[in-house]
Amino acid sequence: MDILIKGGELFNGKDFVGKANVYIKYGKVVEVSKEVKEAKEEIDARDMFVLPGLIDAHIHLSGIKGGSLLKTMFERPEYRVLRASKWLERLLLAGFTTVRDCGEYVSLALKRAVQEGIIRGPNIIAAGRPITQTFGHGEINHDIPLEFSHKVGFSEFCDGTESCIHAARKVLRDGSDFIKVFATGGVLSQRDKPENPQLSYEEIKAIVNEAHKVGTYVAAHAHGDAGAKIAVEAGVKTIEHGTLLKDDTLKLMVNRGVSLTPTLTIQEVIYRYGKQIGVDEWGLQKIFEVRERVADVVKKAKEYGVLMISGTDLGFETGLGDIDMGKNWYELVLLVERGGLTPKEALITATYNSSLALGINAGFIDIGRDGDLVVINGNPLENIYDVTKVTHVLKAGRVEVRNGKLESKT
Ligand SMILES: [Zn+2]
Repeated sequence: MDILIKGGELFNGKDFVGKANVYIKYGKVVEVSKEVKEAKEEIDARDMFVLPGLIDAHIHLSGIKGGSLLKTMFERPEYRVLRASKWLERLLLAGFTTVRDCGEYVSLALKRAVQEGIIRGPNIIAAGRPITQTFGHGEINHDIPLEFSHKVGFSEFCDGTESCIHAARKVLRDGSDFIKVFATGGVLSQRDKPENPQLSYEEIKAIVNEAHKVGTYVAAHAHGDAGAKIAVEAGVKTIEHGTLLKDDTLKLMVNRGVSLTPTLTIQEVIYRYGKQIGVDEWGLQKIFEVRERVADVVKKAKEYGVLMISGTDLGFETGLGDIDMGKNWYELVLLVERGGLTPKEALITATYNSSLALGINAGFIDIGRDGDLVVINGNPLENIYDVTKVTHVLKAGRVEVRNGKLESKT
């Protein structure tokens, strides 16, 4: 055995197991038992809580500061990458061992740098550039000339099925792990409303087909019910935000096995601190309804049995105390406090449910699963805020954080 995590109170991502020893070899969990065996390294987790490494299933590693997206998007990408590389360290320290970047070109480079061990961070599942229609959410600003909008480079544009096939192939060629599309308007884009559908059934279907051909899936940004329904019918796998979803669409999602990422954190940060962090006027105007409605959607989704996963949608540094990049556990707090989930249900969204929805080997402590674990000096099943008391983080069986500090590299 390479590592023994000894005697912790184990929550395996799905169930509370109680006191157990977890053994890791070659980066994978090989045994979970009461037995004590020899291991090259022991981590004493007695009186501690052990759970799978956390997953933020909706993040943007854009490397920008402040909420005025367009303004900051013009910062040099190499500078933004450096800032984002620091975010990745903070995420590791907070117990996140996997993040899914839902649209940002620089995330492709960051992902590779983490894989190659050049920088430290959670594993990154990257969408690369998201796909938008013209006059879509992915344009952010609709007053600038269209050619400038193309040059900003945040999104890939498509209009019509031929064009969508081309956009999907370009995104996949860049090395994206999945495809992100904007199926409705949004909050932080200028003149489109969250309830407006964007991209047609045929357009989304064409993108889904391209994703399926290479064995991956499509994630759809969708606030409004009409656009979300079109996206689900066209075969997307995950609905992002879902703030205005109605009952029939939630039920359809259950039938089709489509997950929901409610992204309560982004709604909360814009609602509470939008003006302070420079969110554009249009964002401030649109936030109230979506923030209000999403709490009920979470409650309904729980009632109907929709597969819910945890994602903050944080894409910038706020510089504020309680909600900021690196404090992505805040989504769990909001799922409990605003969404009415129990602490256990909230933890499941960031672990086991994410492993199901994203089709990854992390998020569940069981034999053959990735050796991604967090040791916590507290009990987040009793108090969700205890999820912040991280002492150790292991990724693929390697100690990345020890006693609350990044492990120096050997
Ligand atoms: Zn997002």
